[in-house]
Amino acid sequence: MFDELLKESERLMEERPLAREVLTAFRDLAALMAEEAPRKQKAPLDERFQDIKREEGFPLFSRADLPVDMDSAAQLLEKFLTTLRRGERPDKEGLAAAFLACEEDKAWSSNLFSAILNNDKDTLEDMAQSVNLEAQTLEFLGQMALTPSIQALRDLYVPRIDTDTWEYGYCPFCGSLPSISFFDKTGKRYMHCGLCGLEWRFPRLTCPFCSNEDHKSLGYFDVENQDGFRVDFCRQCGRYLKAVDKRVFEKTGPMELENLATLHLDMLANKEGFK
Ligand SMILES: [Zn+2]
Ligand SMILES: [Zn+2]
Repeated sequence: MFDELLKESERLMEERPLAREVLTAFRDLAALMAEEAPRKQKAPLDERFQDIKREEGFPLFSRADLPVDMDSAAQLLEKFLTTLRRGERPDKEGLAAAFLACEEDKAWSSNLFSAILNNDKDTLEDMAQSVNLEAQTLEFLGQMALTPSIQALRDLYVPRIDTDTWEYGYCPFCGSLPSISFFDKTGKRYMHCGLCGLEWRFPRLTCPFCSNEDHKSLGYFDVENQDGFRVDFCRQCGRYLKAVDKRVFEKTGPMELENLATLHLDMLANKEGFK
């Protein structure tokens, strides 16, 4: 999985020179992720209870309850910080401070991971400030460090998840919201989970964030000179979601990479007032 991410980030760098910088950073992290072998252990689940939960629209796990391998994630975070602080990044002192914070107190990284999984923005902001990093950077690194462990867990449970009939805008495995969406070669719409990367079918004319189906308040804008990308928005909840139309491309990258390679679309959507 991460080997493919590595290879694909190289390919996308050639195709999308504008996203080169962010893809280079990602490639360096993916190389470390590929080496990681997190513990794979199923959590005991009550089968009957799971059926009821699924029928009522609950994901298999909530983000906060994911039984992730925190030790593996903590080790990976330290590797990320070691690698990145050696580079020429303007925030390398912050990265070094974060590395020290992890070294000095093992609770630091587990606090970071639980802040990410609990969507606790205040704690994230405080932790980032304490090491003089952007909260966004710290969150991104923390989430990347959690990813091998979360994906190993996800793959254990995927056989019991029906991604074709799940009808909600949040992930059937971990309950997170989509970070990007796509249309497959036949025009079917899919959501891509922002945390575990699971992909599930979703109706074309529904907002995944508020379930709005009123076409008058749903819309999208295209991007000039960029066929195959668009931004869907909803005036009811004010949110947006990027979409890649795979029909336009011979080959697209994994959605994690497409998400990073289309940061200009996020800026455009923010400028239009969507969040
Ligand atoms: Zn998920
Ligand atoms: Zn909406």
